[in-house]
Amino acid sequence: MSEPRNLKPYGDVIELIGWTPLIRLNHVTRGIRTPVYAKAEFFNPGGSIKDRIGGPIIEQAEREGRLKPGGTIVEGTSGNTGIGLAIAARNGGYKCIFTMPDKMSQEKVRLLKAFGAEVIVTPTAVPPDHPDNYVMMAKRIAHETPNAILANQFYNDANSQAHYDTTGPEIWEQTEGKVTHFVYAAGTGGTITGVGRYLKEKNPKIQVIAGDPVGSVLAELWRTKGEGKPEGTPYKVEGIGQDKIPGTLDMGVIDDFMTVSDKESFAMARRLTREEGLFVGGSSGLVVHVALHVARRIDDPNACVVVPLPDPGERYLSKLYNDEWMRENQLLEPDRVTLGDLLQHKGDAAPSTLVSAAPGQLVRQALEAGAVRNAVATGRKLLREAGSYLEPLPQNKYHSALVQLVESLDTMIAPFGE
Ligand code: PMP
Repeated sequence: MSEPRNLKPYGDVIELIGWTPLIRLNHVTRGIRTPVYAKAEFFNPGGSIKDRIGGPIIEQAEREGRLKPGGTIVEGTSGNTGIGLAIAARNGGYKCIFTMPDKMSQEKVRLLKAFGAEVIVTPTAVPPDHPDNYVMMAKRIAHETPNAILANQFYNDANSQAHYDTTGPEIWEQTEGKVTHFVYAAGTGGTITGVGRYLKEKNPKIQVIAGDPVGSVLAELWRTKGEGKPEGTPYKVEGIGQDKIPGTLDMGVIDDFMTVSDKESFAMARRLTREEGLFVGGSSGLVVHVALHVARRIDDPNACVVVPLPDPGERYLSKLYNDEWMRENQLLEPDRVTLGDLLQHKGDAAPSTLVSAAPGQLVRQALEAGAVRNAVATGRKLLREAGSYLEPLPQNKYHSALVQLVESLDTMIAPFGE
């Protein structure tokens, strides 16, 4: 089933951060020739890609003498960075205080508390410069708390540097330098900036493509080179998209941007779970939706698309994996079944005749129309055959009766045209 892994014991859970597996997507990619590989970041011990930045941010603050024993780490987080920081903070004995917008899942609040952090939930629906905004509040707490630092993931170069040092080189090595397209999104922008910079230094032809939730302003600001004045609107996907450009996001590294709805993101996350066995969150759904779009467009079996899956589905059991919540938010669509899926599942039992239905048509009407089409086609076949049987027969009363029969069948099906 698998090669031996983890053959030696580890000194601390921190040593398990990074070197996450690259896994080929085999089912959601049906009909797409370009290989797509997912980097399963939920294999990190804290369960997300943000484990990678906790240690480097703390070490930088220690090196610069800003963080001293007994100190406090404060951060505004959508949850995952908080866990990454909390794991790294243990060894220094630091206390953690995190602010988090109320749109984030209850699971994440509980997780942060489980790791020993103090959590302050703030309103989501406030402008970025409002004192109750989660980042503004974190800033204030850090300022007012003695011996505290703000981790400052949105403006801290240690964030993108961590991905330049780890995520980027891992993707390069795991694909043996064959990666041609890197697809992700931006929350702080640390991942896409760090990985994008590293990969483009290795091979300037590598394309970096970003997804953005409908409601975020990043895609529009990229398209207008910062000239546009888009208004952010609420959306449900967590951890990505912004209402302003964070300092850690280098827009120059991005070659293309694609906007994706909550519905598309959650539908893809659910498909990744069911079809690939990869139990992931909504942002993973969004970025894979983009990756498949890219793979379909380039249509090249020699290309290689890589897309990280930032965090696990458990974090969203009360949301995108809860059908009631999905229905309440008009996000639940019946799973789309294509004709290809149907025929594949039917195997040898596939029907020789397919009945198609127009949107809004009742199944009964479609079946009736299908039955009529079938009858007409069978009638035509009979007519052709009858003609060839009748020709050599002697011209008697039986012959003329049969000719009459054939002619009446011809009259019956003629109005249906060809
Ligand atoms: N997905 C999830 C679930 C996240 O928590 C984050 C981080 N906020 C991201 C994606 C985006 O990562 P980055 O901050 O490096 O842009």
